[in-house]
Amino acid sequence: MFPNQSQPLVTAPAETAVLALLLAEGPLSRGELARRTGLSSTAITKAARPLIDDGYLHELPPERTAPGAGRPVNPLAVTPDREFFVGVKISGDRLFGAVCDLRAGVRATAGQTLSDCRPEAVCGLLSELVDELLDADPAFRARTRHLGVAVSGDVDRDSGRVRCSGRLGWRDIPLAEMVTGSTGLTVTVENDVKALAVAEYWFGEGIGTGYFALVTIGAGIGSALVVNGQLVTGAYGVAGEMGHIPVDPSGPRCHCGAVGCVEALASTGAILKAVRRDTGRPALEFDEVVETARNGNPAAREAFVRAGHAIGVGIASLVNLVGPERIVVTGEGLETYDLFGLHIEEAYAANAFGAAANCPLSLRPLPWEEWARGAAAVGIQALFPGHPPSSSTTHG
Ligand SMILES: [Zn+2]
Repeated sequence: MFPNQSQPLVTAPAETAVLALLLAEGPLSRGELARRTGLSSTAITKAARPLIDDGYLHELPPERTAPGAGRPVNPLAVTPDREFFVGVKISGDRLFGAVCDLRAGVRATAGQTLSDCRPEAVCGLLSELVDELLDADPAFRARTRHLGVAVSGDVDRDSGRVRCSGRLGWRDIPLAEMVTGSTGLTVTVENDVKALAVAEYWFGEGIGTGYFALVTIGAGIGSALVVNGQLVTGAYGVAGEMGHIPVDPSGPRCHCGAVGCVEALASTGAILKAVRRDTGRPALEFDEVVETARNGNPAAREAFVRAGHAIGVGIASLVNLVGPERIVVTGEGLETYDLFGLHIEEAYAANAFGAAANCPLSLRPLPWEEWARGAAAVGIQALFPGHPPSSSTTHG
């Protein structure tokens, strides 16, 4: 039987722990699951039974754990095709969509150009995009009940409202309710950087870490933090906003109202504005700024130096506060890493405190589909009750 539309798939802590571990790390034996979760083998067997009966888990053929070891074991594995998830990322001018399987494997992608950013228009186009994606395979239509939507800005995941999205010009939009109405799916709305962090944490570089951060550079400077295996949402839904850490009291005013934020110095818009001003060429476009800097123009190069320094200090602040094991740096800003990467790394090294500086920066150019995959990963989390667990909270 296909589970009820909006009910979590797992509710008991043991089932939750077993499914979370298998989703993130792939096949594991019952003994290994018991070791990792601290549960008894009997409890693991009991927790796995309904998930096997429902087709979410299956047993792999028996294998011996080591030559000469006792009787062979049947590892348990997730059945990726059991359920599919749609993810859509809303950017200022485009919708990016993907269908993913249970382990966040991308099965289909599609996009739509957005010419009207009003919420009703976006919802209409989003529903069309979801239909197009689900039509790609009859199995998608039959076995999809969750849709994750990722939006930049201040998003209240619990209520499904977008409190504020500067790039879309939205304020207090009940997006989950609107999209549920037009698609019939169970909808989870999340901040786009947090959604990307969920995908990277569960299914990418974050696997096996308890403390993890993701930083995006480009049109905006964003970040998301995982602490003790949980995505940090903050008491007010806003946390880990590296873009608005103040790094230069004499710097430019940020669109948030404060002065000298990382984003006010290091976003593509901030770099463009500084170079236009300092070169006296107000019509310059960003591509030209990049070219000018690569050709050695001092004003253009200096803007990238300042941007790199701001990002590096911002990353050091995250590291000093949270101490992540790994930080993924991503976003379209990586395309100009040759111009400011050295300054990011120098400022990071100079400002990170003690052993926290051991945290490596991992550069990950992520194509746009990855943002849609992040949105789908948020849909996968909806299989779990409340604030979903992670694999690492169950590490022994
Ligand atoms: Zn700011």
